[in-house]
Amino acid sequence: MNTVARDAQSRPLSALPSVDRVLGFEAVRVLVAEFGREPTLDMVRKVLDEARATLRTDAAIDVGESALSASVGAALRREHARRQRPVVNLTGTVLHTNLGRAPLPPEAVRAVAEVMASPTNLEYDIERGARGDRDDLVAPLLAQVTGCEAATVVNNNAAAVLLALNTFARGKEVLVSRGEQIEIGGAFRLPDVMARAGCQLREVGTTNRTHLSDYEEAIGPKTGLVLKVHPSNYAITGFTAEADEARLGALAASRGVPFMVDLGSGALLDMSRWGLPKEPTVRETLTHGATLVTFSGDKLLGGPQAGLLAGSREAIARVKKNPLKRALRVDKMTLAALEAVLALYRDPDRLAARLPALRLLTRSRAQVRAAAERMRPLFEEALRGKAVVEIEECASQIGSGSQPVETLASAAIVVRCAARSPSLRRLEAAFRALPVPVLGRIAEDALRFDLRCLEDEAQFAGLLRELSP
Ligand SMILES: *Cc1c(COP(=O)(O)O)cnc(C)c1O
Repeated sequence: MNTVARDAQSRPLSALPSVDRVLGFEAVRVLVAEFGREPTLDMVRKVLDEARATLRTDAAIDVGESALSASVGAALRREHARRQRPVVNLTGTVLHTNLGRAPLPPEAVRAVAEVMASPTNLEYDIERGARGDRDDLVAPLLAQVTGCEAATVVNNNAAAVLLALNTFARGKEVLVSRGEQIEIGGAFRLPDVMARAGCQLREVGTTNRTHLSDYEEAIGPKTGLVLKVHPSNYAITGFTAEADEARLGALAASRGVPFMVDLGSGALLDMSRWGLPKEPTVRETLTHGATLVTFSGDKLLGGPQAGLLAGSREAIARVKKNPLKRALRVDKMTLAALEAVLALYRDPDRLAARLPALRLLTRSRAQVRAAAERMRPLFEEALRGKAVVEIEECASQIGSGSQPVETLASAAIVVRCAARSPSLRRLEAAFRALPVPVLGRIAEDALRFDLRCLEDEAQFAGLLRELSP
C-alpha cells in the first residue's frame, strides 16, 4: 500500500482506490458491522471526495488502506457520537439552565427507566378499571406537601403561566405591579407572554413602590386576574413597597377575581431550615389566599423540567378544561420523575441527603474546601506544572433565577497561567475536551472551578488523568 501512497505523487487521482475497494478493506468491513452499510458507504464516499479534492491541489496525502480506513472510522465515530452528554458542572451555578438544571435522584432515574420501556397506567385507573387522569399520579402528593386542593402539570413554568393567563384572563385585563414586569432568560417576557395569552396587561403602582390601593383603584369589571410575580432574577432595593400578599388575596376574593402568584422557583419547604435564603413556599402563598400558584419542577424543587399549577379545585378544573392544556401536557417519564422526587418530600429530615439539588445547595464551604484540598494535587499533576493551582474562597449561585442577590459560601480550584503556560482559553478548552467535559469559568485572569457540585471524586480523578493541557 505504500506504493499507492508514493504513486499519489506522480499519478495523484488514479492512486485513489474505488469506493468498492475501500468497502472491502478489512478494517472498513468491521465499520460496516458496527455502523451499518449505508452510513459507512456514505462516509467512504465523503472521505474519498475529500482526498480527491486535496490531491487536486497537488498536496501529498496518504491514501493507503490503513490511512483511509482510519479516516473513515474516525469520521463515523465523530458523526455517531451522542450529542447530549453528561458534563461536570463546576461553573459555580448549581441549577444551571444551560446544563439542564436539577440533577435527579436515583429514585427518579429508576422510576423513569421503568416506565419508559413499558406501557403504564398513565391515564388508566387500575382500581376502577376505567380511564384515569394523568395529573392524579402526582396531585395527591402535591396536596400533601403544599396543602393545595388540586394540581396539574405542564411542560415548564412558562407554559404554566401562559396556560393560566389564557384560562382566566383571555380578552380581559391582568393587574400586575410595575415592579414585576420581568424578563426571565430565554425570551420569557411577561408582557409578551401576556399578549400571546390574549390578555391585556394593566400595570399598577410604580417600579419601586406598589400599594394595595393601586390594585384597589385598578380592579374592576374588566379584570380577569390579579397576578403577583416572584422577582426571581433581580432585586429592587432601597425605597420600596409591595402590597401585602394576604391583603391582596383578600381584595381579589372580595371582587370575585382569581389571584395568581407565579413563584418561579417554588420552594415546597422553608429553605431556611437548611440555612438557605428564605423563599416563599407554595403552602404559604396558598394560605395568603392565592387561587393559583405556578412554579417550576426543575428549580428549587429539584425535579424534572415541568410547570406545576397548584390551587383551588375550581381553578385547576378550569385550567384543565382549556384545550391549551392538551398541547402543553407532560409525558409519563416526566410524571414518573416528578412523582419520585415529590415522594422524597414526605420525609423532610432526609431530604437534603437524598435530593441532589438540595444536597449540593446545602454543602458548607468547609465541605467544599475539603474536596478542593483533595483535588488540588490531582489538578497539579494533570496540568504538569503548566499552570499554577490554588484554592480560593468563592460564592456559588443557586441559579435559575433563585435569589440572585444571595449566594452560597463555597471554595474553588483556581488555575492561573505560569511563565510558559498555554493561554487560559486553551486550558479551559482542554478541560472541555475531556471524555466527560469539565466546565469551569474564566474570570479575573483565572480559570475557576467551584467544587460545590463535584460529588463523584473517583470518576473525576480518572478524568483528570486524561487531561492534555
Ligand atoms: C423561571 C421562572 C419562570 C419560567 O419557568 P421555566 O420552568 O423555566 O419555564 C417563570 N416565572 C418565574 C418567576 C421564574 O422564576
